[in-house]
Amino acid sequence: MGSCCSTADADAQPCPKCGHVGPIVGAAPVRPHLAEAVDGDWQHCANTQCQVIYHLGADTVDADSVITQVGFKATDKPTPVCFCFAHTADALGEDLAEHEGVSVIKAEIKVAVADSLCACEHLNPSGKCCLADVHRTLKSFAQPTPA
Ligand SMILES: [Zn+2]
Repeated sequence: MGSCCSTADADAQPCPKCGHVGPIVGAAPVRPHLAEAVDGDWQHCANTQCQVIYHLGADTVDADSVITQVGFKATDKPTPVCFCFAHTADALGEDLAEHEGVSVIKAEIKVAVADSLCACEHLNPSGKCCLADVHRTLKSFAQPTPA
């Protein structure tokens, strides 16, 4: 099965709070929520009963501190179009408006996907790459439905 992004689970550690061993997603998906996140094998705790969303050693990012929903967690936060990098439909709309109809965010996502920095299969509840959804969302802004 081909997937847009793959992650290595070789050195996966248990969540410091609940002990669940989740996938390694790296630092890139953590940065939108924690700008100063250090480089490393950050992991996603997929246990919906646990408040921890990302962890690396003793460092954790919990459901209260994320800016959007992540996977099946923090569902009281805005639902992003791109779960890996926490881009919402509103953010994509603003991006288009600010850059004369060219989405800088989409270009950034493409680069990150090419570098395997995303983890859609773990972070997107659909388990699929978000680029198709991003494309669809951008299209909906570019071509407003006629009244
Ligand atoms: Zn946990």
